[in-house]
Amino acid sequence: MLIYRKNFVIIKMNYDRIFDKSSDIMTLVNMNEILKMAMQKGCAIGAFNVVDINSLHAVINSAVRLKSPVIISVAEIHFQYIDVEELAPVIKAAADKAPIPLALHLDHGQSLEAVMKAVQCGFTSIMFDGSQLPLEENIAKTAEIVRYAHAAGISVEGELGHVGGAEGQLEDQSGDSLFTDPSEASLFVKKTRVDALAVAVGSAHGVYKRKPRLDFNRLKKIKDSTRIPLVLHGGSGIPDNDIKKSIECGICKINVYTELSQNAVGSVRKKLAEYSGISYPELMRTARRAMENVVAEKIEIFGSKNFV
Ligand SMILES: [Zn+2]
Repeated sequence: MLIYRKNFVIIKMNYDRIFDKSSDIMTLVNMNEILKMAMQKGCAIGAFNVVDINSLHAVINSAVRLKSPVIISVAEIHFQYIDVEELAPVIKAAADKAPIPLALHLDHGQSLEAVMKAVQCGFTSIMFDGSQLPLEENIAKTAEIVRYAHAAGISVEGELGHVGGAEGQLEDQSGDSLFTDPSEASLFVKKTRVDALAVAVGSAHGVYKRKPRLDFNRLKKIKDSTRIPLVLHGGSGIPDNDIKKSIECGICKINVYTELSQNAVGSVRKKLAEYSGISYPELMRTARRAMENVVAEKIEIFGSKNFV
């Protein structure tokens, strides 16, 4: 635990230096600000994973057009494709120009290194995913990260139970999902003081092979026992009515990635089939428009349109 303490002192110093809180230049906000508004309004905010500048622009363009707050997520699993230290300043510059509240969030941080890197890069929110650890270890690690993240003004999402599958892949059939227990959730939130909780109630990462069935009763019980914003992972491919019902039962943040990836790839494939001599920037624009459509559709369903 000492390692956290030492690193976070350094991070806090860097953070204070990067974000002079007395100035007005920072438009990225802590995720709590956005989720509190969502709870009051009875809607959910989309958290969309970006993997490059093209996907970043797709997310911001649609959120600005529909006047919706938005959460820009970067997943640790995607660090292999992007240099977060280079992308973070670009995200901040884009956020400065956007007239909507945006949070920059680390999705599924599983290593201390990834959490540290995100904080040092100026992320305003992090997810620490200790869902595959034994309960006591998940609580201990999450609580330690929360303490130091909060000292730096950063919100933290934890995960209890386990949302199975893998981002952008076919839904896993190995049964690695583990539903969240409402009484454990209450204990977890009390002991860790997380700002938001990712719950496992029947959704999965990746492409569903069969219609997902969400356990709404469980979701309501978790909401009643925790009273904090709940997060639905694996938001791609869940029927619209189930999404709306999950929001009524306490979901405030919905993660979307697979549909962005699928629609971008599908549009590029179609374009190439029509004309194989297409230029690279034109192809990128095709992919961006496809992703913009997904983001706009989700914002409509989540109910956060015309929010700001
Ligand atoms: Zn997830």
